Amino acid sequence: MSDQRVLATEFEMLAALMEVAGQNAFKVAAVRRVARVLEDFEGDLRAVAAEPGALESMDGVGKSSASKIRQWCDDGTIAELDTLRGEIPAGLVPLLDVSGLGPKTVGRLWREADVTDHASLRAAIDDGRLAALPRMGAKTIANILDSLNFAAQSADRTSIGRALPMAESLAEDLRSVDGVHRVEWAGSLRRGCETIGDIDLLATTSEPARLMERLTRRPDVTKVLASGDTKASVRLEAGIQVDLRVVDREAFGAALLYFTGSKEHNVALRHAANTRGMRLNEYGLFKDDGDETPPQDRGMSPLASVTEADIYQALDLPWHPPELRESHDSLDAAPPDLIDQGDIRCDLHTHTTASDGHLSIADMAREAIARGYHTLAITDHSKSSVQAGGLDEQRLRSHIDDIRAVDASLSEIRLLAGAEVDIHADGRLDYDDDLLAELDIVLAAPHVSLRQSPKDATKRLVAAVSHPLIHILVHPTGRIIGRRPGLEPDMDALVAAAAEHGTALEINANPQRLDLRDRHVRKALAAGARITINTDAHAAAHFDFMRYGVVTGRRGGLTAKSCINAYSASELMDWLDR
Ligand SMILES: [Zn+2]
Ligand SMILES: [Zn+2]
Repeated sequence: MSDQRVLATEFEMLAALMEVAGQNAFKVAAVRRVARVLEDFEGDLRAVAAEPGALESMDGVGKSSASKIRQWCDDGTIAELDTLRGEIPAGLVPLLDVSGLGPKTVGRLWREADVTDHASLRAAIDDGRLAALPRMGAKTIANILDSLNFAAQSADRTSIGRALPMAESLAEDLRSVDGVHRVEWAGSLRRGCETIGDIDLLATTSEPARLMERLTRRPDVTKVLASGDTKASVRLEAGIQVDLRVVDREAFGAALLYFTGSKEHNVALRHAANTRGMRLNEYGLFKDDGDETPPQDRGMSPLASVTEADIYQALDLPWHPPELRESHDSLDAAPPDLIDQGDIRCDLHTHTTASDGHLSIADMAREAIARGYHTLAITDHSKSSVQAGGLDEQRLRSHIDDIRAVDASLSEIRLLAGAEVDIHADGRLDYDDDLLAELDIVLAAPHVSLRQSPKDATKRLVAAVSHPLIHILVHPTGRIIGRRPGLEPDMDALVAAAAEHGTALEINANPQRLDLRDRHVRKALAAGARITINTDAHAAAHFDFMRYGVVTGRRGGLTAKSCINAYSASELMDWLDR
């Protein structure tokens, strides 16, 4: 991670802790603004910090923030943050992630109800202390309890958005060790699951001891759980466990297959091997000679073991991409030709400074051009999304003009003037049809009333996809992984309506959303609905979320043909005009 991204998280944390401590709202807002500036900053932060007055001349960075940035560049600390960390119970920090509990509320709970962590919050709910606080209604408390229970269920899982970059940097580090031929990750991460338990790494090397040492001595390792000649387990600072195994080069495919799973897929493969007079284990596929002793221990050479493809082939089965190795994926049927990141040619859901995005229209266009896209849709929030700076009718009309003006100045990409329009709880839209008709692309989104009944949610979302001016239903359930379950509409009814009206359903690629989720994608495809994958970018780095959406689509069996983002520019325009 770059300096500015690390520092941006520190400023975020500083703002949150200042709010917990009950500090002045304007100061908090200023610190939060600096976090955004840092997140979007491209360039060498240390060089800018070293230049007198350069930090202060950046938009949104005041004198005191500049001195904090300099201090951090010098010694890696922000004194004010350290002080707050010392004053505020550490157990309050995880509470900031509980849906329905902003920093302000966490601060109140701490000061007024002695809440210092998850357990004491639960206790305060149980013994009625929370209910006794002013402005703390029964409904709010029920929502907090719901969120606590929901968070507890997913507490040990890490988002793919954190785990994948971590695995990539670990693998890169380990590949540089002398003697190493290969390092790959397996497990649920390789299958593209939305959350993962541990990072499983497999390696081949001529010098296992060196490799083990490199892993166990990394500076971000907080605990070595096990360390042997060919296997090590460590816990990282980030709270995630990493298991590293060294395997034989000749058995790499068998090991990769075995440790990638899923368990159910492995069981099905072993069964397929048995019915063919063979035995499959993590060392290879062997002829079954009836002897119970493991064949590799008897010096038997395998029929296949070097690559996964060899093994599927020797079993006379089609090769399965890791994303299609779950219990519901049939072993015998040939998997579809899944979409790849390289098939993606546009992003149809992004935000600018007109609402809650960090970049201008032109800067967003530049990011899209850098990714080789032929089209970018600018889709800021509608008026009901007040906290997100949603646009009223007048501002939207002038925003449309702004988008068209930038579009006219660019030859490399086409900009679409769009909007992400709130769907009210009853299914009505946030703008009139006349205004929607002026836009090139209209997205509809649920943002509030995300706890309504499945029946109401179905009515609401079916109304949106049936509306003749809506092109895409974005993040259809509104869930946030590990924080908020979101709507639970009747998916069969929703995908049928989407297919009937030609409205696309979005896979929101933000790794905290991944909404639609994989199993919904499968349903949508079976019903004949179109899928679109978009990043919902609010900043430059968010464009890189695309891969998480692609992998979710792959898990749902998505092909390029069924994905709007793989269309050529003219196919896309035809689809939008239909
Ligand atoms: Zn949204
Ligand atoms: Zn959005």
